[in-house]
Amino acid sequence: MVKALPQRFNPDLLVRDGTRFELVLSQSQCPRLASILSSADNDIQVTALFSRRKDHIVVTGRLKTRFALDCQRCLESMHVDISEPFELVFVENELKAQTLAKELDPVILDEYGQIHVVDLFEDEVMLHVPVIPKHSDLSVCDIGQTEFGELPADVDEGKTNPFDALKNLNLH
Ligand SMILES: [Zn+2]
Repeated sequence: MVKALPQRFNPDLLVRDGTRFELVLSQSQCPRLASILSSADNDIQVTALFSRRKDHIVVTGRLKTRFALDCQRCLESMHVDISEPFELVFVENELKAQTLAKELDPVILDEYGQIHVVDLFEDEVMLHVPVIPKHSDLSVCDIGQTEFGELPADVDEGKTNPFDALKNLNLH
């Protein structure tokens, strides 16, 4: 059974056997993520399953999105597609987060025991943005650099052509 994940929810109410949740989140809803992308026009697709593990509620699933970035080698635009699994543990406060085992990734609920999907997934998505994005295919960058190499010729056009002086001489 698949249901739409609400924008804001209480994890306690979503722990039900076999209920898988789906959510489509816009990158533009995530301001910190959007600030590190060259454009935030793409969606983030999330599938999530809630379960109880010991005294915690855990959400596991997968995040899929496309990052629009600028290649740091040739400065042309590029994109990176990701499809990454996640596992997060809900905790009531910072203190409880500190008592969790290191391998568990805590998400702190608000005072009403709820969480907003942006608060839940934005950090997780940001983990997968490459720090120094580069085209994986070097030849793509080379095309960009060839164009760049031709630029000085354009700049020269603005300067006085030394042959203009010769042209004037020829007139006399
Ligand atoms: Zn490049």
